[in-house]
Amino acid sequence: MSNPDVIVVGGGVSGLSVAWWLAQAGIAVEVWEQDARPGGKILTREADGYLTERAASMMLNFRPEVSQMLASTRLDAAKVMCPGTPQDQRYLVQDGRLVPFPLRLGELMLSPLWSVRGKLRLLLEPFVPRGGHPDETVSEFIIRRLGREALEKAMEPFIAGPLASDPDQANAHAVLPRLVALERRYGSLALGAGVHQILQRRGAPVREMFSFSGGMSSLVEALAATPGVRFRAGSTATQLEPTESGWRLVGSTPDGDYMVRARHLVLSAPAPAAAALVHPLDTELARLLRGIGYAPLMVVHLAFDRSAIRQPLDGLGFLVPRLERLQLTGCQWISSLFPCRAPRGKVLLACYVGGARAPETMDWDDDQCIEAAVAWLGPLMGIDAAPERVWIDRHERALPLYHGAYLCRLHAIARCLGSWPGLHLAANYWGGVSVRDRIVRGFALAQRIRTALAGSRLSSSLAPAFHPCPAPSVTRSSCQESL
Ligand SMILES: Cc1cc2nc3c(=O)[nH]c(=O)nc-3n(C[C@H](O)[C@H](O)[C@H](O)COP(=O)(O)OP(=O)(O)OC[C@H]3O[C@@H](n4cnc5c(N)ncnc54)[C@H](O)[C@@H]3O)c2cc1C
Repeated sequence: MSNPDVIVVGGGVSGLSVAWWLAQAGIAVEVWEQDARPGGKILTREADGYLTERAASMMLNFRPEVSQMLASTRLDAAKVMCPGTPQDQRYLVQDGRLVPFPLRLGELMLSPLWSVRGKLRLLLEPFVPRGGHPDETVSEFIIRRLGREALEKAMEPFIAGPLASDPDQANAHAVLPRLVALERRYGSLALGAGVHQILQRRGAPVREMFSFSGGMSSLVEALAATPGVRFRAGSTATQLEPTESGWRLVGSTPDGDYMVRARHLVLSAPAPAAAALVHPLDTELARLLRGIGYAPLMVVHLAFDRSAIRQPLDGLGFLVPRLERLQLTGCQWISSLFPCRAPRGKVLLACYVGGARAPETMDWDDDQCIEAAVAWLGPLMGIDAAPERVWIDRHERALPLYHGAYLCRLHAIARCLGSWPGLHLAANYWGGVSVRDRIVRGFALAQRIRTALAGSRLSSSLAPAFHPCPAPSVTRSSCQESL
């Protein structure tokens, strides 16, 4: 079999996205995936009329790259949209009760979630001067701009829930790049958001929340089956080395040990696996990758008869601030979002347990998880029956934590990569964890590889694969201190 131009190690959505964009440009690409199926963390399962997701359950898109990919793969036709207003209501737990989370300024001013003092502090935001530093945490950034209540009753639950992270440690530039950019550009989040809203009315892509009729596996399966992408299931990369014209990769495949050469090599495995592969070449790069922490997370899927739940289920679900002292970070009302994911008359819920807030929950056995979930949901949602079905997904390393001097780490990694032309990193520890971000980042990397292969700008192949977005100025000395 002929050698490809590019090898991608890791067949999760990050690696598959890079491969898909390369294939669109007519570049021969091979994806090595150690599992027997594509998708990595993403896996949809169907049982008795229920459809559950092991990881991503939906996409929130506003990027043209994603729209282009879905149109080209014809996945557009399989899209299942989340219902719009008023179903996009979210709740927050406050003092053991579900309180609607205000989505507009008027609602916020009337909401019982916030004190008068907290509301007044929010209104002062446009008058807060620019500030911050590259290592500023999410908590520091939000308190500085919006006040403590905004952190505790808005930002913290969103960081602890969807990102499984801890705002006291998460780097604001890495986790909230758009908000940080608004401050830098307009001097105020409120002013910046206002300007963006006006621009959006003038034709920017609309925000859509959706999945696919076959679940999120439809996406990764379609990418892996793309003509031009050679997907090698059951193939584990074990060794890589640079050659005169690119890279040599050795590994075990279902046909035995195998070696392949390519001009470019993309590592899309999680950071610890990438670290193990690069260690013999570059111990510093391996050390930096190994230093990336991951949060453990469990998804407890519960199915009930509709009659067992008193809550009207008029929204997406709820998030739990840490002030409530629960190990539960949130609950998605899956069958309200996607009615076809549960049989008629039944309700499917997905509870997110643990994360950086409560890593010890990974030691719980299944009975403990179910007992705890039922005890939390009972009073919050008015449930007084046992679940009819339960599925539990455990992720020991669910999501990378963009904690500490994260931008310094990425800059240091980028410097190391500068010594290894043709070696690239593309995974969710760099540039965002969402499926949307992975597709957009895959596009950017594929463009760089394409340019390098075309030889039109040879120097670009020596540069790091991509830069953290946005890349604030970070001094070498401040980085060395913090890593
Ligand atoms: C519980 C949970 C819920 C989520 N919900 C959402 C959501 O609703 N919306 C959203 O947008 N995002 C969501 N995410 C985030 C998103 O699912 C992930 O960030 C994304 O799927 C990660 O993709 P990846 O390709 O970077 O990594 P992975 O999916 O981990 O893929 C890496 C792949 O590399 C392979 N590999 C490792 N080592 C080797 C080797 N040596 N050789 C060959 N292959 C190797 C692995 O087998 C794996 O398949 C969620 C994540 C979790 C955990």
